[in-house]
Amino acid sequence: LARLRGLRKNYHLGEVQVPALRGIDLDITAGGFTVIAGPSGSGKSTLLHVLGCIDRPDAGQVEIDGITPRELNDDQLSAFRARRIGFVFQNFNLLPVLNALENVEYPMRLLERDGTRRRQRARELLAAVGLQGMETRRPNQLSGGQRQRVAIARALANAPGLVLADEPTANLDRQTGADIIALMRRIQRETGASFVFSSHDPALIQAADVLVRIADGQIVPPLTPPAAPSVPTAQEEIRHESV
Ligand code: ATP
Ligand code: MG
Repeated sequence: LARLRGLRKNYHLGEVQVPALRGIDLDITAGGFTVIAGPSGSGKSTLLHVLGCIDRPDAGQVEIDGITPRELNDDQLSAFRARRIGFVFQNFNLLPVLNALENVEYPMRLLERDGTRRRQRARELLAAVGLQGMETRRPNQLSGGQRQRVAIARALANAPGLVLADEPTANLDRQTGADIIALMRRIQRETGASFVFSSHDPALIQAADVLVRIADGQIVPPLTPPAAPSVPTAQEEIRHESV
């Protein structure tokens, strides 16, 4: 589904270069939950932003569904992102002047000209995330968990094959976090989309089909226990597949 090779990215703070990604090779397999786990500052957000084509790497290759985003012009890249990729930002990034329904409708404007159809789909998505009756509330009239749901509904607006979410449970209490994980799992099963999360949340890490660990801008190879029997369990094999 997605193939990342030799990704490098530095941020510039005046003269100082801050390395964020230091040579990432990663294959994201289609379907299921991939969780990218790692300490604060390890490069998780940067990696998701590069994968989501929100940011460009300094070096290395990104390929998604056989497409190389670097070869697209700005219009083609916007269309590609709108069609193929849904992104749930860590701080939600909802538009404050728009209500919940308008926020969900917003990304559809590029692809669906019929306003009635857009509104209908936005209503269905809000209902799917349990926000029926909250359509006309603006983000500041919703709780954190409710905003998180609006952001998820918005990410699903154009039925993308790849949904990326940056720490989708970080700001939520345990019960709300569990509800969000269950919700995303249900949507993943129904749509067959591939979900990639960054997280330090043990509950979300537990729910991963594929777990990728990152530290200091690099993928951490999976641990092989010192005295392990030679045959890994099926689950371990799945978890190690993409690393
Ligand atoms: P967290 O778990 O705290 O969200 P993270 O794993 O998402 O952390 P990143 O945000 O990807 O980490 O940051 C990776 C590195 O890049 C860190 O050293 C960080 O300080 C640095 N960094 C991130 N954004 C910028 C920026 N805009 N300017 C300069 N340095 C940055
Ligand atoms: Mg982050």
